[in-house]
Parts: sequence; structure tokens; C-alpha cells
Amino acid sequence: MRNGMDRESGVVDAAVIGGSFAGVSAALQLARGRRQVVVIDEGQPRNRLASAGHGFLGMDGRPPAEMRAAGLRDLLAYPEARLIEARVTDVVAEGPGFALTLATGAALRARRLVLAYGMRDLLPDLPGLADIWGETAFSCPYCHGYELAGRPTGLLAGPGIAEFAVFLREWTDDLTLFPMAPVPEAEQVQLRAAGVRLADGLPLRLSHEGRRVTGAVMPGGQVVPLAALYVKAGAEPACDLAQRLGCAMEAGMQGPIIATSMMKATTVPGVFAAGDVARPVPSAVMAAADGAMAGAACHRDLAQAFPRAG
Ligand SMILES: Cc1cc2nc3c(=O)[nH]c(=O)nc-3n(C[C@H](O)[C@H](O)[C@H](O)COP(=O)(O)OP(=O)(O)OC[C@H]3O[C@@H](n4cnc5c(N)ncnc54)[C@H](O)[C@@H]3O)c2cc1C
Repeated sequence: MRNGMDRESGVVDAAVIGGSFAGVSAALQLARGRRQVVVIDEGQPRNRLASAGHGFLGMDGRPPAEMRAAGLRDLLAYPEARLIEARVTDVVAEGPGFALTLATGAALRARRLVLAYGMRDLLPDLPGLADIWGETAFSCPYCHGYELAGRPTGLLAGPGIAEFAVFLREWTDDLTLFPMAPVPEAEQVQLRAAGVRLADGLPLRLSHEGRRVTGAVMPGGQVVPLAALYVKAGAEPACDLAQRLGCAMEAGMQGPIIATSMMKATTVPGVFAAGDVARPVPSAVMAAADGAMAGAACHRDLAQAFPRAG
């Protein structure tokens, strides 16, 4: 049994959909449990546009692609593990397991599933934002706030944001809030007390030099100088495979996520989920830990349902 496949049955023990922080980590536990695991990944991790990732033990400040490559290198050293670079387009329950269809037209059967396909950010339609996203525009201050500390900073955000704006003062005392919804008077009082400026509406566009933001161009032509921008926007699962399988969803902080138990089991037997798509808060290091939990729980489930012969 090499390369993640049980040659006799043609069925792998586990298929992991999504091969980034959560998926690779889940697969590592399964491989170490001596089960055949296939990771299927289309290569679009959420932080792919960031030039560096932060807060990850032992990897602080490394490019995200380098972090993922290191994880994959460790995983693929196990003969039980295999990577398929493709998009999974469909998955259905079939017999005691699941049948997957890939965009390449290939098919795969697995006894158990780990869904680790992440979330897609739903950015506001603001000219210039896509150019700077991941370099000087982010959503999480723990990820990039330290590097941009003390610089003129903007926050583009919807309702109920005063508390977060005040919190951002931990990183900068030069902060302008561009509100995407009216800010109630009580919140304005909070902002004023914390020294947060409230802009009169949204910018028309962002000015930038390459991927570095330089300012927010307001409707009157006035420019608010910026070196950093936080965006509090929504997100959605990167695909709808959990819904197709009938997994229950729940509300996360940015959008719907897959509901899981503490052991990362979904509401569908045999299906586990981990990472951003199954956690309220996005974070690479937390996604990796979540994946380890899902991988171990999936392995225990396999051990009970499909014990090793003899
Ligand atoms: C700009 C930016 C900067 C960030 N910086 C940091 C940081 O510094 N530190 C930090 O801790 N966090 C950071 N994050 C958050 C971090 O990116 C996520 O928390 C982390 O990537 C989640 O890992 P994951 O494995 O759950 O999902 P992802 O990393 O998003 O990976 C999911 C994978 O599944 C694949 N996939 C999706 N659908 C399918 C399908 N149908 N078939 C096959 N494959 C599929 C995707 O292509 C992707 O490769 C940042 C996020 C952004 C947007």
C-alpha cells in the first residue's frame, strides 16, 4: 500500500479536500496513523497574496507559499500520503464511503472525508483594493498589524465597528474609520474618546504605488494619506461541497461555516471539517491545530469502522 491507495479495493481511507494549513495538518495525522490519505487541492489558499505570514510557531514572517511547501514536504515523505492538484467539483455518499469527482474528470472513492477547503473573502467593490490586498490591506491586525504599527491607517467597515476601531489603537494612533453604514451617536462618542477619526463616507478609490496603499481619495477630491488599510468584510466557504453532502452550517464571524463538534465531526457521519471553513476566526496556526484534531478524529473513526485485518 503506497502512494495513499489501497490497491486491492481502489478506495483510499481518507480524502482531504483542501491542502493548506488545515488540510495538510489533518493528512499528517492520518498518515502517521498508517492510513492511506489523499489530499486534493486546487492551490488557492486564502493568504496567497500576502508576501509574509505571521504568528505561526517557527515560521513567523515566512512567505505563505514557503510555509505550505514545508508542510507538504513533511507530509509527502510518508508513503501513505498523496497529493492531487485539482479542484473537487462534486462529492456524494456512496456505500460505506464517498465518491469524489475532480475537475480533471478523474474520480476517487474514500472511506472518510475531511473538508478543509477554506473561505473566500468577499471584498467591497472599491477601486484599488484588489491591488493592495495582502500587501498593505488586510483584515486581521494580529497577522500584519505589527509590521504596519504607528503608520497612518484606515479601517473600512460596516455596522457595529466602533469597538474594533478602538481596539486597532493597540497598533496605531493615526486611524481613520471609513464607515460602510451609518455610525450611531453612541459609537461616535466612543471613537472620539479614543482619538479615531470618522471620515465623511467612503472613498471613491484607493491610491497606491504598486501594492502599497498611499491614500483614500474621497468624493470631494481630498486625499486621506494611508500606509495601511484594514477591511472588515464578509467571507463565504470556497465551495459548496459541505452543503451538497447535507452538513449543517452555522454562523461564523465573517459568514457561514460548517458546524462541527469539538472533535471536528460534521453532522454527516464520516465527514470531518477543519480550518477557516469550520472555525469562527481565520488564522493559519489555528487552522493547522484544527486540522490536526480533525485528522486524529477521522483516524479514530476509521480504526473503529474499518479495523486492520489480522
Ligand atoms: C491577506 C491575508 C493575509 C493573512 N495573513 C495571515 C497571517 O499572517 N497569519 C495567519 O495566521 N493567518 C493569516 N491569514 C489567514 C489565513 O490565510 C487563513 O486562516 C488560513 O489560510 C486558513 O487555512 P485553511 O487551510 O483553513 O484554508 P486555506 O489556506 O484557504 O486553504 C484552503 C485550500 O483549499 C483549496 N480548495 C478550495 N476549494 C477546493 C475544492 N473544491 N477542491 C480542491 N481544493 C479546494 C484552496 O484552493 C486552498 O488551497 C491571512 C489571510 C489573508 C486573506
